[in-house]
Parts: sequence; C-alpha cells; structure tokens
Amino acid sequence: MNKSNEVATDVKSKFLGDAEFMKDKLGPALCLAKWKQVSLHLPTGLNNSCYHPPLHAINPVEIKFDPSALHNTAHKKAQRQLMLTGERPAECSYCWNMEDQGKLSDRHYRSGEPWAAVDFEQIKNSTGAEDDIIPSYVEVNFNNACNLKCSYCSPQFSSSWHDEAQRMGPYATITPHNSLDHFAGNRRIIPAREHNPYVEAFWAWWPRLYPTLEHFRMTGGEPLMDKNTYRVFNHVIENPSKKLHLNVTSNFSVKQSLFDRYLTAVQTICDGRIEHFMQYVSLDGWGAQAEYMRHGMNFDLVWSRVDQYLTDIPSYNSLTFIITMNNLSVSSLQQLLEGILELRRKHSTTYQRVWFDTPVLRQPAWQSLQTLPESYAQRLESVRDWMSQHLTTDTNPYHGFKDYEVARLDRDIAWMRSAQTQDHSVARADFYRFFSEHDRRRDTDFLRTFPEMRAWWAECESHARNA
Ligand code: SF4
Repeated sequence: MNKSNEVATDVKSKFLGDAEFMKDKLGPALCLAKWKQVSLHLPTGLNNSCYHPPLHAINPVEIKFDPSALHNTAHKKAQRQLMLTGERPAECSYCWNMEDQGKLSDRHYRSGEPWAAVDFEQIKNSTGAEDDIIPSYVEVNFNNACNLKCSYCSPQFSSSWHDEAQRMGPYATITPHNSLDHFAGNRRIIPAREHNPYVEAFWAWWPRLYPTLEHFRMTGGEPLMDKNTYRVFNHVIENPSKKLHLNVTSNFSVKQSLFDRYLTAVQTICDGRIEHFMQYVSLDGWGAQAEYMRHGMNFDLVWSRVDQYLTDIPSYNSLTFIITMNNLSVSSLQQLLEGILELRRKHSTTYQRVWFDTPVLRQPAWQSLQTLPESYAQRLESVRDWMSQHLTTDTNPYHGFKDYEVARLDRDIAWMRSAQTQDHSVARADFYRFFSEHDRRRDTDFLRTFPEMRAWWAECESHARNA
C-alpha cells in the first residue's frame, strides 16, 4: 500500500466513504450520472452525461416538442439500458480503466453524491428507456464567446480561437484539432448572433428544470461575457432556492466593468438566496507557465481577483480551482498548491472556502500527461508525497489537503502510467508542431517559459522531423 492510500484509510472523508459504499451497491456497470447529470453544449447542440464520454448530438426536431430531449437522447437511453443489464458502455472507458486498476472511479464518486444517490432504487428498477428524466446536476455552455485562447481549447469553445483559426488557418498537427473544417457537420458552432434552437429549448425547459435542480453550473466560452448568465442570476434572485448549488466556471480575466457587474450579482445571490455558490476558476499552473497554457491570461490579475472574491463575498460560497492536468502543469503544480494552501490559511476559518480539483486532460492528445516519460510521473509522486505530509487534521480541518485530493492526484499518476507502453511518437511530434507554431503566431517562447523541459522539447522535435 502506498503512502496516499494509507492516508485515505486513516482519515476517511464522507466523500470517499460514500463512493466506497456506492461501489458495492452499483454492481459492475450502473452509473447514476447517466440519469441524473447532463452537460449541455448549446452552441453545437451536443451533450454528454459527465465530461468523460465523447459528446453526442441532440435531436433538433425532438426538442421542439419536448425540450427534455436535450438530456434524454436516444443515444443516452441506449447507454442506460446497457448499464442496467450489467454491460459497460464503451464510451465510459475512463471509468473502466480506473476500476480495472483497482481504483475508485468517477462512476463511484458521482453516484455516491446525494444528488444522485437519492434516486438509486428508482433508477435501478427503471427500464432505461424513460424520456422524462429530469437531471438534478446540469452543466451548460450557452455560447463560445471567450477572450482567451488556451492551448488545449479549440474554436468550438472559444470565439478568440475561432477568429485566429479563421485568420491564420489550422496548426499543422498530424491529428486535426483546430482546423475550422473539423467543426463542420454536427460539430458546427452556431454563432451567438444567430438563432440557436438549443438555447431556445433550454429556456423552454427551464421552468420544469429549475424547481428540482440541486447543482447548476455554467461554463463556456466565458460565462461572465454571456447574457444568459445574468438571465439565470435574475431568475435566482427573484426565485430563491435553498437547495440550489449554483456554480460558474470563469477565467476571471474579463474587463473590469464586467467583473464588477458579476461580483455585485453574486453578492446579492449569496445573501441567503441559495444553499451555496461555487466559483470555479480555471488555472493550470503558476505564474508565466500558467499564462503560457492559457493564452491571454494575466496571472497576477487572476490571483488578485480570487482574493477579492473571497474577501468581498464572505458567506454562502466557496471557490474551486480547476487544474486541468496536462503535460505543462507538472513543473509548477506544487507552487500552485502552495498558493492554494496560503489562501486556505487566509480565508478558511469556519468552513473550507478554497478547493481544487485535478481532472486529467485527454484531448488534444499531444498535451496529455500520458505522453510524458516516467521521470515526470515521479515528479508528480513527490508532489503527492508532499501533500500527504500536509493533511488536514481534526484540530486543523481547513489549512491542509484532503485525503481525496491526494487520492485524486494518485489516480492521475496511475492513469498517466497506464499508457506507458503505448507508442506516443505522433502525439510528441504534434506537441512540437503545435507549440513551435504557437510561439511563432503568438509571440511566446516555450523554452524560456519551461527551461526544465528542454530535453522533452528536443525529443518532440526529433519526432516531428521524423514524422
Ligand atoms: S464516464 Fe464514468 S462517471 Fe461518466 S457517465 Fe460514464 S461511468 Fe459515469
């Protein structure tokens, strides 16, 4: 047993305990997230249950008559039926991979959370073909307007990326990712200025959805730039819901007047109108390295706004950093986590107000942790061991790391190593092709920003030359 597993056993949290309890009840394939959770990408009319399976198309005809078909698609009903018969849907390979290594998967974690677990019996005894399932956990991306061009993002999710692709064409990677041709057919993005039938269906569904919603999360694009965000806020201000957890994911990089407008609205909402407001902030590293990964971001501005948010809105809320674990995150991860501990010491006195999650990036493949050599997995292990030495305790419950935060990083490392024997030459060639073009177009400098990755860069360059 490794150190983090020992820790997880010693200081077992409710979150981890619920996941383990649910693991025994679910059997080999059932995942309550397929019923109770939906992630809606309205600019393209696509959806998935959690963010791991590939996106699939919503039927634009069905939603005219029944807006709940935004969630209950024919594809999803087929996956539910498979799960009920004990078969693992292939699209959920991320979870099966974890479970085959003896780890808890997101299937266990999500199904163990109260918003899903409450309907376990009803779902277990359903047919999977029902089309009136109302999810209690909804994520929605209303449009792709965004002022940043993060390296792993794409024209699908960022209008700034879209503009660049239109002006300068695709990056010359072997695997297509950023070409506008890639966003044709069912990947076509409906521009914000055009009528969008999926957004229209969403607002038609909203009166049925809102009363039972427990978690509602707005992503983007950049939600602070989107009028639908403020429409939701106005509805919540006028119709308080004490069971609602309202969440917004932001880059915290919008112009000052918008940021001020946003903070004022969140202050009003956090005046006892909902159960909890969770502010998600995307940040994948520290300082100049974080700015390189999320092009257009000013790290110091984001960090000062985080502090302002936590200071100016003192109750009914907290803040979670989304650290999208990619191959450029490894170098400065510990520095970021040290900064998070500082924030915990400053702002968490009566409850935990500063959180973080470390989901792994899977696409584009060239930026995946799996492409890195073993020495980087060892670096992450030393971060994990350092975290294990700074755990929360009964007498100091807010200023260290949680057992499951350590377990999640451990899971990332296991996932990283699970592909060690695969051939990564195409992904490594693409890494060089993408970032050398990135440096040229955007006036950045990979080697000056990541000098410790020089050997890796040279290896990727040689793959690109031989490809
Ligand atoms: S990927 Fe995992 S958590 Fe997501 S829907 Fe599938 S089984 Fe559930």
